[in-house]
Amino acid sequence: MRRDYAFDAVIVGAGLVGASFALLLTKKEPNLRILVLESNKSISSGKTAAADSDIRGIALSRDSKNILQTAGIWAALEKSAAPIESIHVSDKGHPGMARFNRSPNDEDPLGYVVEGRLLSDSLRQNLTHKKIQIWYSTEITDTSIEKDQVRLTTSKTNTVIVAKLLVIADGLCSKIASKLGFWVKSKDLGQKAIVASVTLDRKHKGIAYERFTQSGVLAMLPLPTNMGQPKVSLVWTQPSEFALQLEQVTDVLFLDKLQTQFGYRSGIFTDVSARTSFALTTSFAEEMIRARVVLLGNVAHSLHPVAGQGLNLSLRDATRLAEAIASASNANRDFGSVSVLDKYRKDRLFEQHLIAEFTGNLPALFSSQNIVLKLGRNLGLCSLDFIPILREKFINFGINGRAF
Ligand SMILES: Cc1cc2nc3c(=O)[nH]c(=O)nc-3n(C[C@H](O)[C@H](O)[C@H](O)COP(=O)(O)OP(=O)(O)OC[C@H]3O[C@@H](n4cnc5c(N)ncnc54)[C@H](O)[C@@H]3O)c2cc1C
Repeated sequence: MRRDYAFDAVIVGAGLVGASFALLLTKKEPNLRILVLESNKSISSGKTAAADSDIRGIALSRDSKNILQTAGIWAALEKSAAPIESIHVSDKGHPGMARFNRSPNDEDPLGYVVEGRLLSDSLRQNLTHKKIQIWYSTEITDTSIEKDQVRLTTSKTNTVIVAKLLVIADGLCSKIASKLGFWVKSKDLGQKAIVASVTLDRKHKGIAYERFTQSGVLAMLPLPTNMGQPKVSLVWTQPSEFALQLEQVTDVLFLDKLQTQFGYRSGIFTDVSARTSFALTTSFAEEMIRARVVLLGNVAHSLHPVAGQGLNLSLRDATRLAEAIASASNANRDFGSVSVLDKYRKDRLFEQHLIAEFTGNLPALFSSQNIVLKLGRNLGLCSLDFIPILREKFINFGINGRAF
């Protein structure tokens, strides 16, 4: 027998963005019936399976901390978060260097670092406590967009769902967005980001480092000190063939190569965890909304991880989308209509483009051998350090994700 279910909003993907959005939406409009669908069989309610062991240190801006507070998960997460007290940006082989320190008047640190797996666990655990249904191991097999609703057939036998709005948050290379004909412009960067945690011989003092080298970018983010010895989370981007070699060398050789590239500004690297890597693709959806459908998170825009902006940007998108839906719903308006969704799109487009351009261009700028660019970037870093107005702009971008 066929079983039909009706919801106000269906969110496809219980990743960092889909899960955050579900929590934000229920906070802004508690009456909505929300369903989250997750297809990955190794993910289940309370636990993170080995396959989902995301050891990345995710840098969260102040805005993101506030958003996670609104979503109701920050209080529990804070004890597993490392505050960022200062940020150092440097260019290997060149004198330029920029430093941003938390000022004594700042109530909050510049940002926080949380391990990806702890963030996803916390989000998913909270989903099970709220008025949200979450179906694991479920995939959409057919979608039809009708005038007043979307109709979804799922991989659960004979189950059909209707909803006023479909939020696609299933990550880069979304099957469902592609089936619906959404055009996502993407670029394989031919690079990989190697991720690991690295043990130091001294305290990290909450310093986050971003170091540009000719072949890629190195980011070292402080991890919570309750993890025993001082540790940092490493993201090291390299052309794919070098990255493969770096993944396979012994720990001793890996640390040696890392130390050569990074120098001794944070001490001696004494140990490294198992390494994982992410192939880097950037993408931007040319079409982000349609009547009854909206793309959110990596499916809408996938950024170079250089400045740790992807999730931060998507959390701000998620907040504005939840607000737009709640406000339409409170005014008895159809929140799945093009007019409501297009207002959200227009509201977010400028910032999305700006951040995608900025993060997309930085690595190329720093890997360039062009003498003018070389001079410019060093002057740029020096002037960031010395000219307060430029520092303010950059810091506002890095910490708050906003250019103005
Ligand atoms: C190395 C690296 C470091 C980064 N560091 C930072 C950082 O410091 N700060 C920051 O802000 N950002 C950072 N980012 C970016 C950040 O990780 C992404 O922006 C974020 O993870 C995107 O989340 P998402 O939920 O959109 O996608 P995903 O995390 O890919 O989640 C998608 C979910 O959808 C599920 N799914 C897929 N297909 C289906 C389907 N058909 N049906 C149902 N479910 C489906 C998947 O199983 C998954 O759970 C980093 C990225 C990388 C690669």
